[in-house]
Amino acid sequence: MKKPIEPFRIKSVEAIPYISREEREKIIKEAGYNVFLISSDKIYIDLLTDSGTSAMSDNQWAGLMHGDESYAGSRNYFHFEETIRELTGFKYIIPTHQGRVTENLLFSVIMKPGQLIPNNSHFDTTRANVEAKGGIAKDLLYPWAHEPDYEHPFKGNINLEALEALIQETGAENIPLGMITVTNNSGGGQPVAMDNIRSASEIYHKYGIPLFLDACRFAENAWFIKSRDPKYHNTSIRDIVLEMFSYADGCTMSAKKDGLVNIGGFLALNNAEWNERISNQLILIEGFPTYGGLAGRDLEAISRGLKEVVDERYLEYRIGQIAAIGEMLDGFGIPYVRPAGGHAIYIDAKRFLPHIPPHQFPAQALVAALFVEGGIRGVEIGSLMFGSADPKTGKFQAPQNELVRLAVPRRVYSYLHLEYVVQALAEIYKKRDKIKGLRLVYEAPALRHFTARLAEID
Ligand SMILES: *Cc1c(COP(=O)(O)O)cnc(C)c1O
Repeated sequence: MKKPIEPFRIKSVEAIPYISREEREKIIKEAGYNVFLISSDKIYIDLLTDSGTSAMSDNQWAGLMHGDESYAGSRNYFHFEETIRELTGFKYIIPTHQGRVTENLLFSVIMKPGQLIPNNSHFDTTRANVEAKGGIAKDLLYPWAHEPDYEHPFKGNINLEALEALIQETGAENIPLGMITVTNNSGGGQPVAMDNIRSASEIYHKYGIPLFLDACRFAENAWFIKSRDPKYHNTSIRDIVLEMFSYADGCTMSAKKDGLVNIGGFLALNNAEWNERISNQLILIEGFPTYGGLAGRDLEAISRGLKEVVDERYLEYRIGQIAAIGEMLDGFGIPYVRPAGGHAIYIDAKRFLPHIPPHQFPAQALVAALFVEGGIRGVEIGSLMFGSADPKTGKFQAPQNELVRLAVPRRVYSYLHLEYVVQALAEIYKKRDKIKGLRLVYEAPALRHFTARLAEID
């Protein structure tokens, strides 16, 4: 494959520390084999997340100096509002400091306890916010979406038959809102087809249910539509984005992803009554409606970032980086979730380390090995994050997949950095039968993967 060239040159650089293998072996033990507990100055290549880790452009940095920090009516808010209206077509634009606040606002205002929210896959914070308000978060993917090897151009599609059946069974009056997450972060960064968004919208609207997109990676999704659906090969990204949003009644957004900034988010919607109630709640928990928990300069950086992210050469390079990792992994026969996603590669640790059973955390063992081998930080999405003991039998219940997510920050790492990551994985793959399983030494009652401490099993 010809790698798409970087559509930028470098004006400012940040040195990255490189520490020796001996030190890394010591550090991983001290951190209880949990890379969340390692300080970032000990990490060489950080693929923990693509959220808030983007490099801003010179134009965005310049925008910070145009920050108008007036409490009310900052000019940056009007740029922000105009940019988002142009991109999405939605009427009301509510700024927030990140995505999950948007979810908190939305569900606390429009949902009652016991009500249900369907989605292709709820992201963790979306599910947590629905559940914290007494709602039920329902994931509706096609069964093949969970199979790492199943190749489908739009593996993030919402299951339309299951959606309609669920609405009939639950009753539309118990579903205040339906969602679709683009791209599907929890399901491998896989895109959703335009036809699928349109059909889901028709189903939702037939029953009078509004549709909101969780739009964190709307531009990456639009690139997949353009490149994988022949009907859209000649349509501009901006037109594809507008069409995607035209089927929805609003969206939630973490600008830390496709906003190309380090902090920020927004809610956009057409319903005047919801806008009024949510804005009142915003004043209570975030700030006045023209800044919503952000500085004026942040709003300016977001509006400039949103204009840059729909650039086709940027997206070709961005998605091309992830595809290039996939191709390099193929060269070594290293198993990963196919096809490569939009913002991350998910290594299949079940097949990478078949000798380690789920209760010995194979994906976490691979995360630790990757740190020791190359100073690289990925994240476990497997037994440590989702596994649990059955309350009755005490038997370990493993999730379906054991994955290591390598999320690629936007405009931060070069192809050589990524090649280095793949080479480290290849080194581990050669001696994979020597990697040992792990056992828990400490776990918190909830969300244990953040703070757990583990030890190697001899
Ligand atoms: C990151 C993310 C969120 C939450 O956004 P934060 O800015 O981290 O609060 C919600 N949905 C999806 C799909 C995400 O990727």
